[in-house]
Amino acid sequence: MMAFAMSRLTDADLAPNALQADYSLRDHNTFGFDARARLGGAIRSEAALAALRADQRIAGMPRLVLGAGSNVVLTRDFDGLALVIDLRGRRVVAQTDDAYIVEAAAGERWHDFVDWTLQQGMAGLENLALIPGTVGAAPVQNIGAYGLELAERFERLRALDMVDGRIVDLDAQACAFGYRDSVFKHAARDRLIILSVAFRLPKRWRARASYADVASWLAASGIGEPTARQIFDAVTAIRREKLPDPAVLGNAGSFFKNPIVDAEQFAALRAKEPDIVCYTQRDGRVKLAAGWMIDRCGWKGRSIGAAAVHERQALVLVNRGGATGEQVLALAQAIRADVSQRFGVELDMEPLVV
Ligand SMILES: Cc1cc2nc3c(=O)[nH]c(=O)nc-3n(C[C@H](O)[C@H](O)[C@H](O)COP(=O)(O)OP(=O)(O)OC[C@H]3O[C@@H](n4cnc5c(N)ncnc54)[C@H](O)[C@@H]3O)c2cc1C
Repeated sequence: MMAFAMSRLTDADLAPNALQADYSLRDHNTFGFDARARLGGAIRSEAALAALRADQRIAGMPRLVLGAGSNVVLTRDFDGLALVIDLRGRRVVAQTDDAYIVEAAAGERWHDFVDWTLQQGMAGLENLALIPGTVGAAPVQNIGAYGLELAERFERLRALDMVDGRIVDLDAQACAFGYRDSVFKHAARDRLIILSVAFRLPKRWRARASYADVASWLAASGIGEPTARQIFDAVTAIRREKLPDPAVLGNAGSFFKNPIVDAEQFAALRAKEPDIVCYTQRDGRVKLAAGWMIDRCGWKGRSIGAAAVHERQALVLVNRGGATGEQVLALAQAIRADVSQRFGVELDMEPLVV
């Protein structure tokens, strides 16, 4: 992609904020796309972020907030300010009769944080082991895997309001968590930057091991009543086997959300596709397996240029080397069209498309 012409800001202007002109985003997105931002840099303190917000020379620029870039598709250079949130720190904040409250700064690596809570003897996040990315991005799409969603362990978070400079505290209700969704994908998207997240981990912990893959891994290992660490190990091993490592094969995990349809639409679908994979929800609606539908449309392993559908996991789109974000998006659109035609269901993309 093209380089940006030097910004009107001089190097001396940029240095105090550790920003660089024509900033490469290649190491800041797990697809490995070679996009650039007009300005960018890592944010290593809350004070630095507050100073940036107050800086009139850049206050009006479009902003792209990144953690580890494991849920973004960069289809072009970004004509604005890219902020890579690298705030660090984690601590046990308090304990009540029934829970520990732990907190981590937004730039902490999610998997390392989960590991650390277990080292402290605090269980509860183990089902979410090995999800790439940062603690600060985890609430944005209410990360979930293997029978657990972040929202179930969430206590509150702190965020900087980039409009008025206030630091705000949000509880779960204010975050409006949904399936791979929160207020940070909607009203708060261009306004709040998450600084730290606190979790409530239960003292009376019970293993959550009924998810089929986890249950069979534990059974195969001869484990009847797993500890939290054993579930962590099981989830880590399963994920390593099933999902491509972005360090080896660029990807952003699941590319599409599993669509949820009402009971009537589901009945009509099942009449046409008797073996359709589905999960009935508490409210009677039915969640469909997007990966199964994509596979059924014949897309597993197929490619457009170097953008491909993973051979083992049809929900994951990969960069086989040298693909662009536009090619991945073209592949995604072709898949959506086929799924829509065959099943009458529209797939929503999970990553942020820039
Ligand atoms: C191999 C693989 C497996 C995956 N498996 C799962 C899975 O099982 N479950 C799951 O839910 N996800 C999964 N993902 C997606 C991804 O890991 C998560 O969405 C993760 O939380 C993204 O973290 P990040 O730091 O990389 O965020 P980024 O990709 O950098 O950003 C994601 C979004 O969050 C915003 N954002 C980032 N930081 C902040 C902040 N501090 N304040 C406000 N907004 C912010 C960004 O603007 C963007 O909209 C997977 C991805 C990969 C590559």
